[in-house]
Amino acid sequence: MPVAPSRPSSSSDSLSARTALMKHAARDAVDYLEGVNARPVAPRPEAVAALNALRGPLPAGPTSPEAVLHLLTEFGSPATVANGGGRYFGFVNGGCVPAAMAAAWLVSAWDQNAAFRVQSPVAVALEETALDWVRQLLGLPEGCGGAVVTGATMANFAALAAARHALLERAGWDVENDGLFGAPPITVVVGEEVHTSLLKALGMLGLGRNRVVRVPVDGQGRMRADALPHLNGQTIVCLQAGNVNTGAFDPAGAICPEARAAGAWIHVDGAFGLWAATSPDYRRLTKGFEQADSWATDGHKWPNIGYDCGIAMVREPKSLRAAMSVQAAYLAQAEHHEQREPSHYNPELSRRARGVELWAGLRSLGQSGLAEIVERTSSHAKRFAVGLRAAGYQVLNDVVINQVLVSFGSAERTLRTVERLQQEGTCWCGSTVWQGQAAMRISVSSWMTTKEDVDRSLAAMLKAAAE
Ligand SMILES: *Cc1c(COP(=O)(O)O)cnc(C)c1O
Repeated sequence: MPVAPSRPSSSSDSLSARTALMKHAARDAVDYLEGVNARPVAPRPEAVAALNALRGPLPAGPTSPEAVLHLLTEFGSPATVANGGGRYFGFVNGGCVPAAMAAAWLVSAWDQNAAFRVQSPVAVALEETALDWVRQLLGLPEGCGGAVVTGATMANFAALAAARHALLERAGWDVENDGLFGAPPITVVVGEEVHTSLLKALGMLGLGRNRVVRVPVDGQGRMRADALPHLNGQTIVCLQAGNVNTGAFDPAGAICPEARAAGAWIHVDGAFGLWAATSPDYRRLTKGFEQADSWATDGHKWPNIGYDCGIAMVREPKSLRAAMSVQAAYLAQAEHHEQREPSHYNPELSRRARGVELWAGLRSLGQSGLAEIVERTSSHAKRFAVGLRAAGYQVLNDVVINQVLVSFGSAERTLRTVERLQQEGTCWCGSTVWQGQAAMRISVSSWMTTKEDVDRSLAAMLKAAAE
């Protein structure tokens, strides 16, 4: 006989059960946060294996929400990667500052749909404000159009969709309505060290991952200004502010004036590096990038806004709107003076109010708080480099910001060191290949990392390398 589904006996019962559940969830989350810095940074293999308790077929009937929460706390939490602690140096993952995390909890309770103003005045107002703060923090021109998306991949996508629109409109082609078949060609220029997510965005846009013209780079991965191909009004030049391996910045000051004069569209992938603009000590690195037409960056990397948060900025808002609005481009132009609706500038229609989290994180940090994260993490990176060099290992990059590449000798020895370090659990770093050489990459991106975290991690690295 089928089991009758359990049904709440009354709505007031179920509401008080919800209150108890949410308090329980908050307690579990706080307990998790309090323990995150004491755990092995990568979960133990046993914890990952125990995730089997959460697999299997979906039960035919309901499970009580309390039981569901218990499963997550018991089996889910131990299988997380502790990137909320101070010793996670993988990829370029930031942590989450308290105000942004608290806002995220509230945003979940609000459950707003941030597509249109009428669905959530608060989400739209805070998103708009946060976008303008980001524009100012990054030193970008007034009047930009922006979108709060899931990450720099989608920010690259949205910004490059605006570029595609603008260039093809100039050539008399309506790409949103007529597609790319038969369209005049666009040439996309990238550096040899372009981030793979930008190529993915080009693929999604029909511009092709392999159709790009790759410009040779120097030893730090910077595009060589003297090696640029011929540029014209049908060219998109993609610069990088912060190479994912070295942290190096393309020479925007040398490239942008020439590219602008040729009528090319300049796009900047500045997933983390652009935030150097918030610090008086590092701002010079971002000089020249403000001359671009569009920019992509992440809230969840250096600003420590928490996942997921990316930001696209476009100098001419109408290009972004034409590319993203559900309405036809000619309507979009006519309604240019209306109030901004998020959905007209974003790839999504229904969407989470992640702009609120961005607003909260930025509001709590202020410009000086952001600058302080940039400066502190960059000085931690230098401390790693000094310690590794002193122990006789080769640092492969100029440590200009928060990224360090180190070789422990042969490729095999370097990869074995990374593996041992990951298993040992004090900290976590990934491996990469830098211009043909195997390396371990240290990315200091979290507001949580202290000098003691650096010293403990350094000791673990030297021990792993010596074994
Ligand atoms: C991380 C990164 C990306 C991709 O960002 P996501 O937020 O993971 O989508 C793109 N470009 C650069 C330079 C990056 O460092």
